[in-house]
Amino acid sequence: MTDKQKAAPVGQLVTASKSFDDSYFNNIESKLSLFLNRLDGVKTNGSNKWLGKCPAHPDRSPSLGIKRADDRILIHCFAGCSVDAVLSAVGLDMADLFPDRVAIPGAPKPKAPRFSAYELFPLLIQEALILALAFHAVTSGDVLADTDMQRAEQAYNAVLRLNSEVKP
Ligand SMILES: [Zn+2]
Repeated sequence: MTDKQKAAPVGQLVTASKSFDDSYFNNIESKLSLFLNRLDGVKTNGSNKWLGKCPAHPDRSPSLGIKRADDRILIHCFAGCSVDAVLSAVGLDMADLFPDRVAIPGAPKPKAPRFSAYELFPLLIQEALILALAFHAVTSGDVLADTDMQRAEQAYNAVLRLNSEVKP
């Protein structure tokens, strides 16, 4: 998938009303492909969900959650990188998470999409497991390697951040 294939021109979406729905969803599909192709270590994590290495921080194990919703792409870095930082690290911006829309004068810009608590739960479990393993190793008298210690710290920060993020 190349940039040229990325998006139907906006005019096409407006005039081709008969195929509006197809164009609309193809558009978000091609944007998703564009984004996923620019990440390393992408693996599917269920239907319309992926995990990949975050491009905005040194990421040994994939800590970037990606989800395709009908009308937008959700991304979340568990090490705490902002959506903007993740996107700019791969040369994209917020508009690349949404289908092209006709600009409405005075309409607010779309906000960064957010995961629901339910959607964050599997990734919270993953981070909690890493913490649990580290805790078990330390309480068993093992010394964690520096890289494992860093990963445990990342998990610790991710859990704290999630706790504040899912509060209403
Ligand atoms: Zn990150």
